[in-house]
Amino acid sequence: MKTVRVRFAPSPTGRLHIGGARTALFNWAYARRLGGKFILRIEDTDLERSKLEHERAILEGLSLLGLDWDEGPDVGGPFAPYRQTERLERHRAYAAKLLDTGAAYACFCSSERLEALREGQSARKEKPAYDRKCASLTAEEVAARRGAGEKPVVRFRVPEGTTRFIDHVRDEVAFENKEVDDWIMVRADGMPIYNFVVVCDDIDMGITHVFRGEEHLVNTPKQVLLYEALGATAPEFGHLPLMLGTDGKKLSKRTGDTALQDYLERGYPKAAIVNFLCLQGWALNGTTEIFSIEELVANFDIKDVTKAGAIFDIDKFQWMSGEYIRKYSVDELADLCTPYIVRAGLASEAQLAERRSWYLEVVRGEQERIRTFAELPARIAFLFAEDGAVPYEAEALKNARKQAAGLATLADYRTWLAEALAQGKSTAELRDATKAWVTARGIKMPVLFQPLRCSLTGQPGGPDLFDLIRLLGGDHALARIDAGLQRLSAPDGSPT
Ligand code: GLU
Repeated sequence: MKTVRVRFAPSPTGRLHIGGARTALFNWAYARRLGGKFILRIEDTDLERSKLEHERAILEGLSLLGLDWDEGPDVGGPFAPYRQTERLERHRAYAAKLLDTGAAYACFCSSERLEALREGQSARKEKPAYDRKCASLTAEEVAARRGAGEKPVVRFRVPEGTTRFIDHVRDEVAFENKEVDDWIMVRADGMPIYNFVVVCDDIDMGITHVFRGEEHLVNTPKQVLLYEALGATAPEFGHLPLMLGTDGKKLSKRTGDTALQDYLERGYPKAAIVNFLCLQGWALNGTTEIFSIEELVANFDIKDVTKAGAIFDIDKFQWMSGEYIRKYSVDELADLCTPYIVRAGLASEAQLAERRSWYLEVVRGEQERIRTFAELPARIAFLFAEDGAVPYEAEALKNARKQAAGLATLADYRTWLAEALAQGKSTAELRDATKAWVTARGIKMPVLFQPLRCSLTGQPGGPDLFDLIRLLGGDHALARIDAGLQRLSAPDGSPT
């Protein structure tokens, strides 16, 4: 059996799209499962929009997800070069061959003529199509016009008939050739067009299977006809379902982030991203949602990919991300969260390292609650605030102020707490003794706890107050209560 050779062929015109990452993942998994080769080819024929920095970011994105390629622009390979613009000689040779056999022809029609043609067709409610004016030019006529300095485009001469191909996702697909226009393969400036070069390169690189997004399904008939014209066997295809937002529309910036990098920046664990991408059109067994990239490789078959659009449900993604957060050891999670804390300006890496055991305790307290690394800083920012200037959230302030006896209770408690801390009470002892203190005063718990929580954290809810007192340290807790006693009596609760 022929060795499987699949490729991911991104255009370096922007960051790696989350849909592109899924295409890469499925191709990679297919190659790895069958002991084949995964090739990375950069489709940079759009000179204006292609940038080396985008290429780098795409390569980096794939590596971060754990996808490795056997051949590519950086690692080379037997079919180098792997950037399309470095293969223009090959493309020219293919174009010359097609012109020679008459499968393609030079077209000199001006853009004005084509525009007028389109307008006429649309006025008559006809499908816009080239009218083949130049299809019957003789070799002499073409040579003469070229000689006079005219620069033609090269068009593919679409034959009559029906084009069929096997698509492993949607079974057999058939297209009437008359629906396909005599499309342009090479522009007047000599630059070849995607549908043409992709076929040249896939032939040259021995690609056996082409798995790509459904948006390319319309291109496939053109490409299959080209394989036929070149006397080459077309690869097997698989068009992956579109990734849709929860509104059922194509995933776009409007409905959510579309670049892989956005999710990395938002602190989704890489393994969670990979796992979630696996579920975009594929399932392990319909019941297991959390699984590893190794399980994908062991089980992936293109035939199991669904035709129906895949819903990219961000709530589910966040849930899954949280499940991965819980799998880490506290140590690992602390390290993974560190850059987010530094970026949020709460502390430097060195400061966190200095207070490592304290930091671990903070992270342990949040591990059950956060869904992404990036959620941590906002949740623990109060710990890093100045004691006199903890930001009070409106709801925390409202809850604290609701308690008529709150301030007086807090003032008394402050005295009691200073004493209890001086006695060296443990967290558990402090908790029990505080409850007894509240009960003995004949008041309800919130009368103390709301103003106390607001003073210590500025937030309406959160971790256990006595764990917090330990994390803050007794002196800081008392200083925060002192500030709270003043601020809670000020009209807006602002630091004085
Ligand atoms: N350069 C194309 C893209 O980025 C590749 C399509 C293909 O795989 O044929 O969509």
